[in-house]
Amino acid sequence: MVMIINKAYKFRLYPNYKQKELINKTLGCSRFIYNYMLDKKKDNIFLSKYDLSKQVPSLTITYPFLKEVDVCALRCSLFDLDNGFQRYFTKKGNYPKFKAKGVKDSYRTCYVKNKYKNKIYENIKLDLINNNITLPKLKEVKIRGYRNLNKINGRILNATISKVANKYYVSVCVEEYLDIKEIIPSSVVGIDVGIKSLVTTSDGISYGNPNYLNKYERRIKRLQRDLSRKIKGSNNFYKTKIKLEEIYRKLKNARIKTNEEIVSKITKDYDIIISEDLSIKKMIEESKKYLRKSITNSTMSDIINRLKYKCKWLGKKFYQVNRYYASSQICSRCNHKEVEMKSLSRRKYICRNCGLEIDRDINASINIMIEGLFRSYQTN
Ligand SMILES: [Zn+2]
Repeated sequence: MVMIINKAYKFRLYPNYKQKELINKTLGCSRFIYNYMLDKKKDNIFLSKYDLSKQVPSLTITYPFLKEVDVCALRCSLFDLDNGFQRYFTKKGNYPKFKAKGVKDSYRTCYVKNKYKNKIYENIKLDLINNNITLPKLKEVKIRGYRNLNKINGRILNATISKVANKYYVSVCVEEYLDIKEIIPSSVVGIDVGIKSLVTTSDGISYGNPNYLNKYERRIKRLQRDLSRKIKGSNNFYKTKIKLEEIYRKLKNARIKTNEEIVSKITKDYDIIISEDLSIKKMIEESKKYLRKSITNSTMSDIINRLKYKCKWLGKKFYQVNRYYASSQICSRCNHKEVEMKSLSRRKYICRNCGLEIDRDINASINIMIEGLFRSYQTN
């Protein structure tokens, strides 16, 4: 079976002075048009993205600086705004907020191919041999990343240019064909995603002790405190802010690396993988510290998402169990259910019925596996 997937390739960008200036301008214009149209939406929330797009030409007359930048980026900005409203209408997101400078600075631009006098023109071109990327208005920009790759096999869909801690990046989204082999599943695992170890399997193996977080957490807290003492807009304020962004970026990279390792190990070892639907997890209770909570919550959903994709790509099965399934209250040996919710600081599950003593996370992952197999049997 052949499946079409979207894959992102992220590179560090090394723009020259002129290119930097233009990127910064485009970031500003994308933000400007986003906020301008968001303001317009206040009067009429049902303006579609096409209605908004139609206003762009007249806007460029009023604000001529918009003409200097990639028009595709401006359009993408409007589509993002529209997306935000669609999410809001379907109750998947909050009402879109105004964008501020220095907060997730990025713009997206779409791939366009033209044929003129038998010559093909593309606005985005990736050259991994000479390490450069051609981007609209910017022309060739130096890149670094994916040293072992000479070529990307697939169609470029779009590129997102971002600026974090004064460094520039480009993420190229590519449509690729993937040949998925049919496999006959011969192994199964239940996994519990948690705080103490990121993943615990029903085989009793735990992965990813998130201790590396401590180091970042301490530094983030200290810098946040420093930042709150600085005068907003001052030189020192920006310096601290850049340091903070840099640590967030490092943390994100460390997290991606850990998660990728865990996911490739599990998807290599097992054919059927069962996890909990994360919305049930009572993570809020597990950590009172806000920062740690937000970091671990997003880490956990990142692992689940990666598992979902990787299983699809490898032709393996991934199931998630019912959101009301009490994996941590049930004894994995005799099925006895503790009515009382155990304190989450207790690491052991002790069954009052059969006397089983087992690590809490392993007990949960076994239950998740059994429940998942049971459900998949019912639905097949
Ligand atoms: Zn028991």
